[in-house]
Amino acid sequence: MANKARPPAVSSSKPPPGDGDGNHIHNQILLNLPPKESAMLIPKLEFVRLKTHHVLHEPGDTLKSAYFCNTGLVSILSVFPDGKSVEVGLIGKEGFVGVPLVAGFRTSPTRAVAQIEATAFRVDGETLMVILRQAPILERRLQQFSQIMAMQVTQIAACNRLHEVNERLARWLLMSADRTGSDSVPLTQELLAQMLGTRRSSVTVAAGMLQKAGLISHSRGDVEITDRPNLEEAACECYGIMNRQVKEWQDDSK
Ligand SMILES: [Zn+2]
Repeated sequence: MANKARPPAVSSSKPPPGDGDGNHIHNQILLNLPPKESAMLIPKLEFVRLKTHHVLHEPGDTLKSAYFCNTGLVSILSVFPDGKSVEVGLIGKEGFVGVPLVAGFRTSPTRAVAQIEATAFRVDGETLMVILRQAPILERRLQQFSQIMAMQVTQIAACNRLHEVNERLARWLLMSADRTGSDSVPLTQELLAQMLGTRRSSVTVAAGMLQKAGLISHSRGDVEITDRPNLEEAACECYGIMNRQVKEWQDDSK
């Protein structure tokens, strides 16, 4: 389906601000806080590097920490007792892991895992809840992000049930590229199959179709988008629906 609704990016010619310890801040929620709230929150943040497959929390875990994603990708997975899982959400530098805390809830029903190597600013969950009482803009931004995640989870659940693997693969690659700011996604087909909740052989066929059409090139452990406009055409309408909704909400809140 045609859509040209790539999410708006925060761009600046200035170098990104740091956390005082020499770590650049790319997270869009942190970058857009008023100085007073930033001064409250930034000293409580700890810069962390998350290796690929690092689990931030499992279903049912108490959320001891929340994470402002800074670089890389974090997947939100729905996990079943037999070990099967499927991705229902994808978070990059626009977002935050730990949305139940914003509503005062201390556990999460999902798994959050670093999908590719990532960095984040971690904050203690209890500390965040105290700060939120004194930081209305941060609270509002996190509420808005929670709503965006709920919308994304709903759309991806429908997508996983209704759309073909090659359309979903195209949608996933576009979402990943938007969140990492790179058209190259270091990911194996094994992991892609887990993300899309399908067999590896189906991902191989789907990736082969997209490669044959000249939209991506894939080699062991790496997928590169080579023709974004036509990859958007090849993706299911979910990609455009989600981006248009986010844009509409962002315009609403200006
Ligand atoms: Zn879809």
